[in-house]
Amino acid sequence: MFSKDVSSSLQFLSEERNIKEYSTTATFIEIITKWFSLITSRYATLALGKNPANENSLQTYTKTVEFLESCIDLFCDMQIEKKEIFKPVQTGLMITTKSYIEITEYLITKRGFLYVLDNRARFSNDFVENLFSNVRKKFPTPNVLQFTNSLKWLTVSQYLQDLPNTNYDIDTGDLLADIIKRSKKDKVDKQYEMPVIHLEPETISFQLDNVQLNSLYHVCSYIISSINKNQKLCDSCLDSAGSKTYNSKVQYSRLVSLKRYREKTLFFVNEYTFKYFLDMYIIINRYLPHIKNMNCDILQFFIIKLKDIECNSIKSCHDLANKIKIRFIKYEMKINCRLGRLEKPVYNSKTMAMHSIIK
Ligand SMILES: [Zn+2]
Repeated sequence: MFSKDVSSSLQFLSEERNIKEYSTTATFIEIITKWFSLITSRYATLALGKNPANENSLQTYTKTVEFLESCIDLFCDMQIEKKEIFKPVQTGLMITTKSYIEITEYLITKRGFLYVLDNRARFSNDFVENLFSNVRKKFPTPNVLQFTNSLKWLTVSQYLQDLPNTNYDIDTGDLLADIIKRSKKDKVDKQYEMPVIHLEPETISFQLDNVQLNSLYHVCSYIISSINKNQKLCDSCLDSAGSKTYNSKVQYSRLVSLKRYREKTLFFVNEYTFKYFLDMYIIINRYLPHIKNMNCDILQFFIIKLKDIECNSIKSCHDLANKIKIRFIKYEMKINCRLGRLEKPVYNSKTMAMHSIIK
């Protein structure tokens, strides 16, 4: 819950609906998010540290410590519920922050470390919580024997596979079993039959309000960044889809602009690219409710349905428009269909599905 996504969305809703309370909550969430990412930072760029040779880094260090001290003040003066009782969360946060500042100060100033990576240094007790939450999944209140048994199978299973539905981030280390994972390529016949939809949804019209259009704009930004991260693109095709410079005149880009930590970090699609997404969005959402539980290849279905939708302004050198299309269909499937629909084998017809069961 405490993330930049939540705080910027609340900030956006506060402006949209003119409710000031949302803005207060958003600011609080933003502070806690920043606090949490500092205390559990895994990367040198975020971690508390200073480089004596670099003036900028000294300033950042001082600012960060000031910020952490302001968190202590905030929780010290805070009143939770109407009764004026000091809550454990207040004490906890103040002790954690104070010790954190003192330890890093010691390590950096006295011992000469450049920065302190907090997650690796085990400031966070996520590891312990993670373990206990897994133990309690099997036995909510385990006795000694059950606990030691759980500990055994958890130790082994951590080597084999990450556990699904756990509350915590997966450790960033490599899992031994990754090496033996098989690739999940399913053989699907090349001939694709379109499933029969009894009620033709062509006529369904969509009225999206400003909030929905802003969220869609956010999805566009996310999808292009993710393609850029994972596949080969060049500057020229990226520039044709949008840019990292915020232009308040581009419609529906407000939410994304609120989400930025810094200038030029998030991607803003231009109006043509947005129109491209919107056209696909409408068709996908016309059909998806009818087709999502059918036994068919949904991805193929939409590739055919969307074949006439194009975006001429996007340069073709890296086939970006098509990459967007496939990525966007998969995204919508992930959001709207039951878990695993993307990975599960799909069959062209009932007969094929039957054959696979008989085998
Ligand atoms: Zn290109």
